[in-house]
Amino acid sequence: MSIFIRNCKKWDNQFPIGLLNTIQGKILVTLNHLRLYIFCTILHIVFANCTARFIRDITSPEEKSLKVSAVGDIMVHSTQLTSAFDPKCKCYNFHPVFKNVKEYLVSADIAFGNLETTLPGDAKLFAGYPQFGAPDELAVALKDIGFDILTTSNNHSVDTGRKGIDHTIDTLDQLGIHHLGTYKSVEEFEKNRILQYSKNGINIVFLSYSYSTNGILVPKEKVVNLIDKVRISEDIQLAKKLHPDVIIVAYHFGTEYARFPDKFQKEMVDFAFQEGADIILGGHPHVLQPFEVAWIVDKYGERKQRMVIYSLGNFVSGQIKRYTNGGMIFNFKLTKKVQSGKTQISIEDVGYTPVFVFVSNEKTGFQYNLLPVEKFLKNDQELKLTPAAYKSMLEFYEDTNSHLQKNSLIVGANQLP
Ligand SMILES: [Zn+2]
Repeated sequence: MSIFIRNCKKWDNQFPIGLLNTIQGKILVTLNHLRLYIFCTILHIVFANCTARFIRDITSPEEKSLKVSAVGDIMVHSTQLTSAFDPKCKCYNFHPVFKNVKEYLVSADIAFGNLETTLPGDAKLFAGYPQFGAPDELAVALKDIGFDILTTSNNHSVDTGRKGIDHTIDTLDQLGIHHLGTYKSVEEFEKNRILQYSKNGINIVFLSYSYSTNGILVPKEKVVNLIDKVRISEDIQLAKKLHPDVIIVAYHFGTEYARFPDKFQKEMVDFAFQEGADIILGGHPHVLQPFEVAWIVDKYGERKQRMVIYSLGNFVSGQIKRYTNGGMIFNFKLTKKVQSGKTQISIEDVGYTPVFVFVSNEKTGFQYNLLPVEKFLKNDQELKLTPAAYKSMLEFYEDTNSHLQKNSLIVGANQLP
């Protein structure tokens, strides 16, 4: 094609000389020359466009990307319920808790988290540990700060029975928050067992499983996704039929308060990767565990960049002990490149924002506040930390950075922040 255009250019270059000669009255431009020139000009335009497209295909593939922000367990202990209750209106308000992290989550294309309480819609069932039930206002606040997807399968999924399962799903549906992991009926499970989510031209399938429901039986007809190799394999195969760009599995698993993954976590992560999952988002230990990005070949022989974070820790909770008193917003970018009909997905810009849970003393009582630590390092914001809280925040920040940066592994993606 390029040769063709080079030949045309040759004619092109000759034409002005012919024209000049005509003006000078020395040589007449024949009709044939003119026809040839027009023909050549058309070819020039057509093939120049064609070649430009061809060259573009080779040099700059079509590229799409999206930013995902994932958080860990969203818990509501009894102290948080008391704090969010306003005796004047006899209502709950969780908005102030999330005020300082809102800008970090709304800026993500997909904000994802684990709702580790139920929303029973009945004040008599509002409770903290051991059987969690929270008011709908919690979900209203989560919607407000930008959550797009919440998992509902965890060891507290059936803490408030049928009412809890049904009303949680109805509330999230009403608010337009996508959810996965628990289902009101077997029919709903069959219909929604694969959550497909598309954004910026990238198609993602989300799956989610819990290791247990704390020994509480799942009510008849209700479904809670539990970790089961047969089920996971089946779901990933179903997901693959939809030809997603990325398969993300959320696992609720691990040993509570352990800062490193246990044998079961590693086994289940390897299993999901072998089945074809691309990204694993873990939770449940209440503390942060490391993440890994590596090139892994699955059982189908597909070599892809895959990533696991073993535990995203507590996003919000009433736990105040070292390592549990904060969590993070885990960020990564998915980039899709289509070149010569081939699609390649890469995981880029992997990083995190440590988030500390600060309990402030207000005139109206105590208030839970999620603080993106970097913004509060100088303690010069409107919301001031007490010396004791500031010390705890710094300890949490150093613990988080040293642990994750020393023990996380990134191969073939951007380095740690
Ligand atoms: Zn849990």
